[in-house]
Amino acid sequence: MYPFAYTKPADTRAALAAGARGGRYIAGGTTLVDLMRETVERPGTLVDISGLPLRDVQATEQGGLRIGALASMADVAADSRVRSAYPVIAQALELSASAQLRNMATIGGNILQRTRCTYFRDVSAPCNKRRRGSGCAALEGYNRSHAILGTSDACVATHPSDLAVALAALDAIVHLLGPDGERSLALTEFLPRPGNTPDREHDLRPGELIIAVEIPPHPRPLRSGYLKVRDRQSYEFALTSAAVVLNITGGVIRDARVAAGGVGTVPWRLTAVERRLTGARPSDRLWAEAAAVAADGARPLRHNGFKAELLKRTVERQLRTVGGTR
Ligand code: SF4
Repeated sequence: MYPFAYTKPADTRAALAAGARGGRYIAGGTTLVDLMRETVERPGTLVDISGLPLRDVQATEQGGLRIGALASMADVAADSRVRSAYPVIAQALELSASAQLRNMATIGGNILQRTRCTYFRDVSAPCNKRRRGSGCAALEGYNRSHAILGTSDACVATHPSDLAVALAALDAIVHLLGPDGERSLALTEFLPRPGNTPDREHDLRPGELIIAVEIPPHPRPLRSGYLKVRDRQSYEFALTSAAVVLNITGGVIRDARVAAGGVGTVPWRLTAVERRLTGARPSDRLWAEAAAVAADGARPLRHNGFKAELLKRTVERQLRTVGGTR
């Protein structure tokens, strides 16, 4: 470890002032402290925002849900409104990490967590995400866990969050507060693909905070669920995952939203799958036909070609689980 300053502001205004002076926000610390120990991150000042009043989960007037950025993963997964209306969120959170981590980690921090690419965490390896222009050790290295969708010649790392995949399927909106006031944008815009600048992982401006994540209203009845496929059944990141959100009315799929994890550099919406589903009647044949296009556009690397087929099977299985067959 190395020396750094620590401050715990009494209110949001003081936190924003400290952030505007270059301080690095910390809440649960479950990602940042690890990265500081490994010297991947070296913030000069930590601004502890864990005491700010940003933990509430509230129904919105429009019929959606607003989740405070500092709500813990465990509290959100246990919330009765989340469990009944959005099981895809509760399942993604419960499959994410150990109980201890879920008690500490926050919703905002979960979205902002950094990749598990081993070369990113090895400061002796070239990594464009850690230092722009230094190269990418994963391209010619061991890349079994890396992405096949949304990659670039500069970076092929996956986004590690399960929650963000569920939120992407639900068209979640991220609310931000900074020195210039409040603004909001879609989660899928907030998390850009790597392109030539993989070190730019989100659209936070200097001093800005995530204050909440909002689930907009969805047509009812809403069925949803999250499936995660990994090398072992606990404490492991996804090889593939699928978040499925369906509205089936009168025996017809009126609305379909499907996102994938473990395969993309960002939470990956499967729009081709959604197009196949919308307006169709649920059947085993439909699930298979829709899942068949899940990996369209994939660019496998030397060690992760299996992910394209695994993604199709993951999506098909979760479509059948959520949509049933009638
Ligand atoms: Fe770094 Fe991305 Fe390459 Fe991993 S895949 S070494 S994070 S540039």
